[in-house]
Amino acid sequence: MKELLAMSKEHEAKAMNVFCPNCEKDTEQNFVDKVDEISIRGEMIPIHMEYYHCEECGEDFEIPRPDYDPLDAAYREYRNRKGMVQPEEIKKFRKELGLTQKELSELIGIGIATVNRYENGALQSDAHDQAIRLSMQPVNMLQILEKKPELLSEFTRNRIIQRLQGKEQDCGDLLEEAIEQFGSYSPSLLSGFIPFNANKLFQAIKFFCYKDQVSKTKLNKLLFYADFKHFKDNGVSISGARYAHAYYGPVPDQFNTWLTAISEWDKQITSEEQAFGDLVGEVYTSGEPDWTVFTTSELAALAFVKDKFQKFTARQIRDFSHQEKGYQTTKDGEIISYQYAQELQI
Ligand SMILES: [Zn+2]
Repeated sequence: MKELLAMSKEHEAKAMNVFCPNCEKDTEQNFVDKVDEISIRGEMIPIHMEYYHCEECGEDFEIPRPDYDPLDAAYREYRNRKGMVQPEEIKKFRKELGLTQKELSELIGIGIATVNRYENGALQSDAHDQAIRLSMQPVNMLQILEKKPELLSEFTRNRIIQRLQGKEQDCGDLLEEAIEQFGSYSPSLLSGFIPFNANKLFQAIKFFCYKDQVSKTKLNKLLFYADFKHFKDNGVSISGARYAHAYYGPVPDQFNTWLTAISEWDKQITSEEQAFGDLVGEVYTSGEPDWTVFTTSELAALAFVKDKFQKFTARQIRDFSHQEKGYQTTKDGEIISYQYAQELQI
C-alpha cells in the first residue's frame, strides 16, 4: 500500500520512547497522525493514517485498529464519490430478499466468489456495480425473475416477488416506531412467509371499510380470513401480519397499535362507537384504498372474503371464526400459525 501513497500532510508528531521491534529496544519514536492520499483507480482519495515512526531505523509501524482499515475507508469514499453500492448494502439487499449468495450470483450473472468478495469489502468493477445496482430496483429484479424462472423454485420466486412488493411500502414517520417494535420480526410460518408490510395491512383495512361501516370485531376477522385465504391458495400471506388468539376470535397481533397508527397516518379512516345487539364497539369507515399495492391474487382473496362475510354480523363472524382449527388449538394471546390455513373453512 505504501507505494500508493502520493503525498501527505502531517498534522502532528509527538516524540516518545516506545519499543521498536526492528531495533529490538526502546527508541525515540514519533506518533504520526496525518492525512494521506491514496490512489484508487487513478482517483486521489484522502485517508487518515496513524503510525509510529522510529527515528533510529526509520521504520514505520502501523497501529493496529480493528475499527479502521485505511484501504477499506478509501474504497468506501471512492464508492461514495462514484455513487457505487457499499458492501453492506449488497448484503442487506440480498438478505431482505432471502437469497443465498449463489442465488443472487446466478440472478445477476456474477460469479459467486466475486459476489462473496464484494460483500466482504472488495472494490467492484464498474460493470458489476451497475449490474448490482440495477438489480436492487424492485422493478428490475421482478424482470430478472421473470426472465430466469428456472433458477428458483416457484415457491421461492413467489416469496421474493412478495418481498419486493413489500419494499415499496409507503408509511408515515409516526408509524416507524410501531413497525420497528412490533413489525420487524423475521418472515416465518407465523407471518405467512413474508415480512410484515404495514401498508398492505392498512390498505386491506381500507378495502374492507370502503363504502361500508365495519365493526372492529368483524374487521379483525376479515383481515384474518383474507391473509389466511391467500396463504391457503398461494402459499404466502398478503400483509405478513401475525394473528393472535383473542376472546372474540383471531385478531392481527398488536391490532390496537396498528389501528391507532393508521388513524394517525391516514385521515380517511374514521371510527365511532356503536352498539351491535349485545356487542358494543367501534365501527370504521374509510375512503378508497390504494388498489395498486395489491396483486391480482390478493385482490381476489380480499374480494372473496368481503363477499363471503357481507351479511355476517360481528357476532356471527366471531362464532364462525371460533370453529377454526387454528383458533381452537391455540390459547389466549398465542400466535396462530398459517399452517392451519389448509383447514380454513372458506
Ligand atoms: Zn527502530
